[in-house]
Amino acid sequence: MTPFPCPNFIGGEWRTPDGATTPVYNPSTGDVISHCPSGGAAEVNAAVAAAQAAFPAWSETPAVERARVFFRYRQLVEQNFDRLCQTASREHGKTLAEARGSVHRGLENIEYACGVPTLLFGDTLENLARGVDCETLLQPLGVCAGITPFNFPAMVPLWMFPLALACGNTFVLKPSEKVPLTANLLGELLDLAGLPKGVFNIVHGGRPAVDALLTHPKVRAVSFVGSTPIAKYIYETGTRHGKRVQANGGAKNYIVIMPDADVPRTVEALSTAAFGCAGERCMAGSTAITVGAAAERLLPSLVTAARAIKVGPTDRPAQPDMGPVITAQHRDHVLKLVASGEKEGASILCDGRGVKVPDAPRGFYLGATIVDNVQAAMTLAREEVFGPVLNVMRMDDLDRAIELTNQSAFGNGAAIFTNSGKAAREFKHRVKAGMVGINVGVPATMAMFPFTGWDDSFYGDLHIQGREAVQFYTQQKVTTTRWFGEGVGDVWKK
Ligand code: NAD
Repeated sequence: MTPFPCPNFIGGEWRTPDGATTPVYNPSTGDVISHCPSGGAAEVNAAVAAAQAAFPAWSETPAVERARVFFRYRQLVEQNFDRLCQTASREHGKTLAEARGSVHRGLENIEYACGVPTLLFGDTLENLARGVDCETLLQPLGVCAGITPFNFPAMVPLWMFPLALACGNTFVLKPSEKVPLTANLLGELLDLAGLPKGVFNIVHGGRPAVDALLTHPKVRAVSFVGSTPIAKYIYETGTRHGKRVQANGGAKNYIVIMPDADVPRTVEALSTAAFGCAGERCMAGSTAITVGAAAERLLPSLVTAARAIKVGPTDRPAQPDMGPVITAQHRDHVLKLVASGEKEGASILCDGRGVKVPDAPRGFYLGATIVDNVQAAMTLAREEVFGPVLNVMRMDDLDRAIELTNQSAFGNGAAIFTNSGKAAREFKHRVKAGMVGINVGVPATMAMFPFTGWDDSFYGDLHIQGREAVQFYTQQKVTTTRWFGEGVGDVWKK
């Protein structure tokens, strides 16, 4: 197969640099489908220079005109929806249904950006003092950068650049080197929508490209989504270099199941939360805390549901229920974590480790796995697994379940399944997590609400998405105005 081309997009030109590359896989087959350029300072400097040069004209373009580009972009993304989903599915391994869901979430972020003329409204107060008025304006920052993870090749970049650009900034995107092709397709469509050259740029690569962005004096703000150690590094390095930074990290999300939970619906939701996208979601429900009799009520049906999940390649018409994980190394990492849990005394209720996929034997597969009697001190309980593995921890009451949830270093999401309003209210009030679900397994927020991770799941002040993101991508100016006496042309008194 001829590998898919993977050029950078700088100053409106698609250029394939010479030099080192990293392989891009189709995780369903294990085949190399492209070679991602390993960009560094030279490419980043060129992209930032292009973005800097494009900033004056783009930032002076009226907000309604900028919004029109995104109305066209929205239409183009919709027209190319299947192509985007297939590209994301091919390089990531998620099923087409999962790709559709996530590209749709991205599309909603474009729709949100289309509302930028009203999102940029400031406040005014007349007669702050006698004859003195005050107003706030929201103005763009300049060149912003986005650094994205592999697990949502379209959605996460779309969390960032549509709003940043609609607010009047210019942008350099550094996508995950594991899934660069979807990002390029998003860039192609943005170019077709009529965005002026240099306003949006893509530089591919790994750490050298990231470091060049973090230290470049003209980059004003950095949005990052990825694992916790890198999020921390991005936040510390970016802020040390005077940049505004929002950095989303990893997660370990707990789902508490009360004895009165609706069993069939909870099983369905939990199964999707744990095994959807092969568990490669920052909002995956990776630990079920069963309270009292919930374990006996729920686990038999949950194990049956997990065993029924069909694993297979996602790049052909017959779609499986679950695709592969991203790389062979990542599969081995997940296997190691499960083995460590077993060694430390946990029991495997459903073992997906030996899954066979005869029509794609070189793909990176794991079957749905449920590990029972996981204890808080185990590595498996503390580390983000990011695979189709559900830990089960058994507790006697809600207080202990909340206590356990709150011990986690992460604070992305948490959910409770119950029919008790009182239990739900207690949980919502006391749980230490930024996104809470009540009978909702994956409470990931939509475009108009911020994506509010806490603790080691987020470093920064203003979150991605919603009004907080508008604040992140703009700086406020407050003007206080007073007019004296009668100036020339001051005819109103006559
Ligand atoms: P990752 O941290 O390995 O990579 C993310 C980005 O950082 C990539 O663009 C990569 O090129 C870059 N990077 C990697 N190592 C680097 C280094 N040493 N120095 C500088 N840059 C580096 O994450 P991933 O494996 O691509 O994605 C999975 C992780 O992302 C999981 O931990 C998941 O929870 C997290 N995630 C979080 C959210 C959220 O909103 N909190 C959403 C999606 C994914």
